[in-house]
Amino acid sequence: MATATLTEFRNETYTDFSQPANRQAMQKALEKVRAELGREYRLRIGGEWISTGDMLVSVNPSKTSEVVGKHHKATPELAKRAVESANSYFAQWSRTPGQERVRMLLDAAAILRRRKLEFNAWMIFEAGKTWIEAEAEIAETIDFCEYYAREMNRLDGPQPVVQLPGEHDEMLYLPLGVGVVIPPWNFPLAILAGMTVASLVTGNTAIVKPSSETPTIAAKFAEVLLEAGFPEGAFTLLTGSGSSVGDVLVQHPKTRFVSFTGSRDVGLRINELAAKHQAGQIWIKRVIAEMGGKDAIIVDGDADVDKAVEGVLFSAFGYQGQKCSACSRAIVHEKIYDEFLQKLAARAGAIKLGPSDDPQNYMGPVISESARKSILGYIAAGKQEGRLVAGDSPTPEGGYYIPPTIIADVDSKARIFQEEIFGPVLAVTRAKDFEHALSLANDSVYGLTGAVFSQDPEHLRQARERFHVGNLYFNRKCTGAMVGAHPFGGFNMSGTDSKAGGPDYLLLFLQAKSVAAKIG
Ligand code: NAP
Repeated sequence: MATATLTEFRNETYTDFSQPANRQAMQKALEKVRAELGREYRLRIGGEWISTGDMLVSVNPSKTSEVVGKHHKATPELAKRAVESANSYFAQWSRTPGQERVRMLLDAAAILRRRKLEFNAWMIFEAGKTWIEAEAEIAETIDFCEYYAREMNRLDGPQPVVQLPGEHDEMLYLPLGVGVVIPPWNFPLAILAGMTVASLVTGNTAIVKPSSETPTIAAKFAEVLLEAGFPEGAFTLLTGSGSSVGDVLVQHPKTRFVSFTGSRDVGLRINELAAKHQAGQIWIKRVIAEMGGKDAIIVDGDADVDKAVEGVLFSAFGYQGQKCSACSRAIVHEKIYDEFLQKLAARAGAIKLGPSDDPQNYMGPVISESARKSILGYIAAGKQEGRLVAGDSPTPEGGYYIPPTIIADVDSKARIFQEEIFGPVLAVTRAKDFEHALSLANDSVYGLTGAVFSQDPEHLRQARERFHVGNLYFNRKCTGAMVGAHPFGGFNMSGTDSKAGGPDYLLLFLQAKSVAAKIG
């Protein structure tokens, strides 16, 4: 039963940077944020600010000499304290009326909207997002806040159930307890915010352990939550290394659930640790784990080749291929294979690569030196496994740059066909026919996103039925899921299919209680 009347959810409109006034405003935001780079950020547990002196220093991947933020790192002892503090505040927070929490979340959305360009600038500096990618992310963040506020409004109060004669029957949704939220760096604001506000608006307390690559964006978001009225006790931003504090947070007997988004290996480890009962623990921990992808786009023999090239290019190289939804395998019908490849290689060769604060650049840097090394390793392997048709071009100095790389004629057994690379590397594989293309696309342990370019309704029907991914798209890119329209989450080793931004999502943070009262 909805308890407040809210306007219908609408996706946030993107700022149009082709307008000179918007471009100027974005440049101003970059200047403002540049003046704030290099600041120090303390930890806060409950109302207490803490300095550990052990610093996590985040740098600008476009220009590694530039420090973005210096953050005091949590110790395992502080991680334990954070869970205990969140546990002691839970009784109070869980009794805060749902309508108040909804209101706070709508206020957070309004603050983000006001500070949109500033947040874009932080993402440009700390995560290497281009202007357009940053803008899409802040819009998605606002969408998560607006959408989950409406969802909580729907789930607040008694839910409709059958009324037995002589009884008053109710079902209510209750929060779970202390949640540990562990996001990745690649959507350093949207995923962190989405998982955090879903935990909070449903009445759970949360400990948010941000990625070590993007702690400043997380600190800025924590400011927004406080400003919106979320109490200090309700959430803790616990900056620190996952390998040092992660196990303590996951294993603590007072942790009730873990909401994780990241790589398969870390997700599987969390799932295993959370499953083990700890002394004093009185529940089975819930784990929401959204993990990697090896996403494929099928280009059918009758596809519009130019549109397919456009869709694959954007899906493979947008944000340097560092999206879980990025296309890393193009599976192309042999009838158009050569034409497609030649057009795609030409387009990739023309991509402008450089610092992401310059809007002329279509691609910025990858996130870190270790990511760069790992991706270069895959490119070296790929050159043995296929034919390099784009890449190997000179890159700008001073940042972690990798050119858009395309390797053709890749066999399905190749490492670059099977393993998640998480960089601007695309494997292209020839398919004999549509059936062959479908079986190649499904030849993966992952099942996150996929797309099909085809004009054949029967082929699209087959893909709808058998292309085994959580998010499937026809005749468009396989990235850019929109909150509300494309609930997001994958199958198999891509995770628990939580469908973020959809109507099922908040239920993962709640438990239902049935109350039946005899009348008379
Ligand atoms: P990651 O290395 O798995 O790290 C994710 C988070 O886990 C980080 O906050 C990390 O902290 C933390 N962590 C590391 N070790 C931990 C441990 N032992 N216990 C608890 N937490 C630990 O992934 P990433 O490189 O940040 O992100 C890229 C991956 O995320 C890719 O595989 C991508 O496909 C996936 N992803 C999936 C989705 C989806 O919706 N399915 C969306 C986005 C990204 P530190 O940074 O301190 O190590």
